[in-house]
Amino acid sequence: MALQVEPSRDSSRSIVEESGMKIILRRPGHNNSAAWHPYNERLPQVRFELQAICPQTGARAGLLHTPHGVVETPVFMPVGTQATVKGVPPYYLDQELGARILLANTYHLFLRPGHLLIEQLGGLHKFMDWPHAILTDSGGFQVFSLSGLRKVTDDGVLFRSHLNGDPHMFTPSSTVDVQLALGSDIAMVLDECLEYPASHEHARKSMERTLRWASDAFRHYRRRLEERRAPGALFPIVQGSMFADLRKECAERLLDLEADGYAIGGLSVGEPRPLSLEMAAVSTAVLPLEKPRYVMGVGMPEELIEYVALGVDMMDCVLPSRNARNGCLFTRHGKVIIKQARYREDPAAVDEQCGCYACRRFSRAYLRHLFQSGEMLFCTLATQHNLQWYLDIMRQIRQSILLGTFPDLLQQWRSAAA
Ligand SMILES: [Zn+2]
Repeated sequence: MALQVEPSRDSSRSIVEESGMKIILRRPGHNNSAAWHPYNERLPQVRFELQAICPQTGARAGLLHTPHGVVETPVFMPVGTQATVKGVPPYYLDQELGARILLANTYHLFLRPGHLLIEQLGGLHKFMDWPHAILTDSGGFQVFSLSGLRKVTDDGVLFRSHLNGDPHMFTPSSTVDVQLALGSDIAMVLDECLEYPASHEHARKSMERTLRWASDAFRHYRRRLEERRAPGALFPIVQGSMFADLRKECAERLLDLEADGYAIGGLSVGEPRPLSLEMAAVSTAVLPLEKPRYVMGVGMPEELIEYVALGVDMMDCVLPSRNARNGCLFTRHGKVIIKQARYREDPAAVDEQCGCYACRRFSRAYLRHLFQSGEMLFCTLATQHNLQWYLDIMRQIRQSILLGTFPDLLQQWRSAAA
């Protein structure tokens, strides 16, 4: 793979070389939140501004205005499950990686330390010292994947904590309340996450439930906003398992909610990759052009551009951080499995062209030593590197959409992956 993603050593900007021409790739500014005020009555609190659309594919570049600043899209959101991106301090995410939005998990924070404690301490941004935007999921995915004992009813889902077995109930309203207490910039509605494969009949029933829950969540959310003008937005989630007709119908019926953005969930649950892309394509074809689209829980580095080509603006995945901790580093030349003996005496950086701290300062031999010794520093350096790679890919994609060269870049990625 010989992709030309060339972030500069200077963390304030990146440089991309295209056809011998140098282009300054602007990173998001530090003070851009000043232009946006969450209590500006004339504008929605989360607003999407389309900047460019690729005429061949429909890939989009935009600006997502949030109460905590502007996010350049398409964007990859690092995952901070427990109000921390494991091993990476917030200042590094902010100043070195240039991240402007993180994801946090409602299920985990609800169970520990508790959303009310976080609210009492000033909200999630203050609690974790993150000045930029935060998106929280509704907790539905974790309830369905982590909690062994659960019962789904039309009202919500009854489950037992994976920590101590205590029973809890999530309803469409209660998960809105939890996310309002956390102070999320973008909250998600409770949805039912189906296992794969599921029958069409089961998938339809589940989709109907997700639709009902979405309208319950919105009704409650709008009522809460009348009492207390909280900044932020609520996104509904397109479900429908791997059935194109259900995905299409679900997306169409969610439009009635007139949300500020839409998510596509229930992907990456074990289905073949082409099917995930097909389901995303069916959904984005229906969703409004002027609203941001977020595909939850994807993907591998080479998949990011494929989702962008379908008109997706936002993505998140634990893959770069989880793989990093397991010793799998993504580079423009493919994966580096750091424990392999071939790296024992290797003085080179993991990726010579990467601008991350690990690649600037350390050899593969040193990183391998840290990994083999079980040193904590390995997780930090490896995660920083993998996130840099993901964010650089997205910045390069965004730049190519703005320049009108996205189809060429897509072709490069496809050739490299073939
Ligand atoms: Zn690196």
